[in-house]
Amino acid sequence: MTNEAPPRDGLIAGLDSPLSRRRMLALSGAGAATLMVPSAPARAVEAPPKVATKAHIVIAGAGAAGLAAAARLAERLDGATITVIDRRKEHYYQPGFTLVAAGLKPQGYVVSTTADYLPRGVTLIEEQVAEFDPVANKVVTDQGRAIRYDFLMVATGLHLDYAAIEGMNTDLIGKDGLGSVYAGPAAAVVTWKEMARFAETGGVGLFGRPATEMKCAGAPLKYTFITDDYLRRHGMRGKSELVYTAQNKGLFSVPIVSEKVRMLFRDRQVKVAYDHVMTAIDPGRKIATYKTPTGTAEFKYDFINVVPPMRAPAAVRNSPLRWQEGVWAGDGWMEVEKPTLRHKRFPNVFGIGDVAGVPKGKTAASVKWQVPVAVDHLIAGIQGTTSASVYDGYTSCPLITRLGRAMLVEFDYEDNLVPSFPGVIAPLEELWVTWVMKTMALKPTYVSMLRGQA
Ligand SMILES: Cc1cc2nc3c(=O)[nH]c(=O)nc-3n(C[C@H](O)[C@H](O)[C@H](O)COP(=O)(O)OP(=O)(O)OC[C@H]3O[C@@H](n4cnc5c(N)ncnc54)[C@H](O)[C@@H]3O)c2cc1C
Repeated sequence: MTNEAPPRDGLIAGLDSPLSRRRMLALSGAGAATLMVPSAPARAVEAPPKVATKAHIVIAGAGAAGLAAAARLAERLDGATITVIDRRKEHYYQPGFTLVAAGLKPQGYVVSTTADYLPRGVTLIEEQVAEFDPVANKVVTDQGRAIRYDFLMVATGLHLDYAAIEGMNTDLIGKDGLGSVYAGPAAAVVTWKEMARFAETGGVGLFGRPATEMKCAGAPLKYTFITDDYLRRHGMRGKSELVYTAQNKGLFSVPIVSEKVRMLFRDRQVKVAYDHVMTAIDPGRKIATYKTPTGTAEFKYDFINVVPPMRAPAAVRNSPLRWQEGVWAGDGWMEVEKPTLRHKRFPNVFGIGDVAGVPKGKTAASVKWQVPVAVDHLIAGIQGTTSASVYDGYTSCPLITRLGRAMLVEFDYEDNLVPSFPGVIAPLEELWVTWVMKTMALKPTYVSMLRGQA
């Protein structure tokens, strides 16, 4: 990609903020990033007139994708009924979980409430969708309430399947050297306590990822690098062994990123066990069991970061919305078209965020690009027209490689690297500016996204 490439800002740079890509390019790298916190929106282009409609739009899930979609629909439609369904009252800023589990941010940094972001005029039903019936155009909640819709956006995120690991349950997190960054804000805090203890004592640390699709595939790698750094700072790296178990023969789905991580792991003496998929854990004996091509393998640990298999939530997995065959069918991901996120068989239904059965895109940064596309197509459907908006698979991950350094990894469906700041932030380079983005600029931009402003 050259500097003539069409402008594109990642999640880290709000489109409507004064810090547009052009401005970023005009600034020097490090200085630019410190200024990336978006301020008041400065719209360059006048907003199009609202579309008048009586359509009823239901959004299942009030996480990153659901709230961002609600904000954009409320902004663009006049007269629509928009209903968001989600039982959880708290909103979790999940990209911050790693920072909490690294002892860098408090638990409160990642917790807010859904109500904080609910757009005016949008109704929130604090229940869970138990059944999707796209033939009858209705959902049924766990309280037995049936809600009909004209258009449906499914934004339920994914299910962390800890139960699929024999011997594992979330009550074990924070005990006897067992951590898990993914399980939620409280789990991130106690994972930090276990990791901090390990950094002082040394021993064997186990890291890895599941064989399923997963959100932020960089997170397990980041946590390995962060632990390595803490051990070194405590002078305990020589008394410890770090092992990363990969589910296949690579360390990341994008080959060039995989190779870069392999080199970094080699430099930091992190051992890699390829083709190892965790199947069981014995927390009493501190042993993790893995399936390998040659049978099972048992690794003893002093600290482990458990990353569970991830699947579509049961309500989606058990519904007609799931892929019927192919690689996405097994774990029940939604059968949507890659460029539009529209359901392949139910055209008034869209799948956005982690639940979408597409090859890339399980990051909050992807949500930023997916939601405007799906919203464009939904509104075109209301108007009886079509939209040319396309989601190209944009996925991004600021991959922390040590405290104070991170690599900005951005790619699309075709595994092309698609840097947002060519000439300023080189992809695959360990930079302080990227660290600043991850630790300071990302959250304000995420919040802007929830409000439909980025
Ligand atoms: C440790 C970690 C680190 C990460 N790091 C990054 C990062 O650095 N950069 C980045 O861009 N992304 C990162 N991510 C990924 C990012 O947080 C997710 O991709 C993003 O939150 C997906 O948004 P979503 O709306 O699809 O799902 P979520 O934000 O998880 O929201 C799903 C919502 O749906 C609700 N729900 C579930 N089932 C139902 C149902 N049946 N009915 C109604 N509601 C339901 C849930 O309660 C939840 O509120 C990270 C994630 C984790 C866990």
